[in-house]
Amino acid sequence: MKKLTKKQKNDILSILEQTYHGTASALQFDSVWQLAVAVILSAQTNDNQVNKITHDLFAAYPDAQSMAKLEPEQLEPLISTCGLYHNKAKNIIATARIVTEQYDGCLPADKQLLTQLPGIGGKTANVILAVGFGIPALAVDTHVQRVSNRLGLAQSKTPEQTEAQLCALIPREKWADAHHWLIWHGRKLCTARNPKCNLCPLSSLCPSREDS
Ligand code: SF4
Repeated sequence: MKKLTKKQKNDILSILEQTYHGTASALQFDSVWQLAVAVILSAQTNDNQVNKITHDLFAAYPDAQSMAKLEPEQLEPLISTCGLYHNKAKNIIATARIVTEQYDGCLPADKQLLTQLPGIGGKTANVILAVGFGIPALAVDTHVQRVSNRLGLAQSKTPEQTEAQLCALIPREKWADAHHWLIWHGRKLCTARNPKCNLCPLSSLCPSREDS
């Protein structure tokens, strides 16, 4: 793939910012704990499906303390419409118990501590930091990985490499926003299959443009 100049990368970021300014997470939550549960549930499930589940789940069990009292067999039926629900139930309850016992019911605002909790990897920790605590972090999910590589903003095989390359390119105060720009671009236009290059505002700069 043709390598872009720094100016071309900055032009792409400016267009993304103008196009997706003000976008935010589609997940619904009222606390950092609820955000963490929603992000854990969102693996291999879309955000609308997660919101349907959490609407009732959070009404009955709004915080870590109440979820810590559940057994997996009680939680599973409440989340069974999302993928991997056995593991998700086990991880959510285990994390709820640790957070209740060790952190007084509040998730720690620290990536190293977050990633020690069951079900919380680097991407989920970054979402919790950026969206929940307002601490600069750039979470790389499947959309961010695909879109940033197609656009030439990153050239990487792993989310960790992509995160490092994007963080080197984008000013720290825009990391959290850039995560949303790339996700929304991946959902709306730069889809995994059949990207809508003919509608894309980045087509004149994009090295992966497909002519239809
Ligand atoms: S031109 Fe096509 S491949 Fe490039 S960012 Fe736009 S939609 Fe994605």
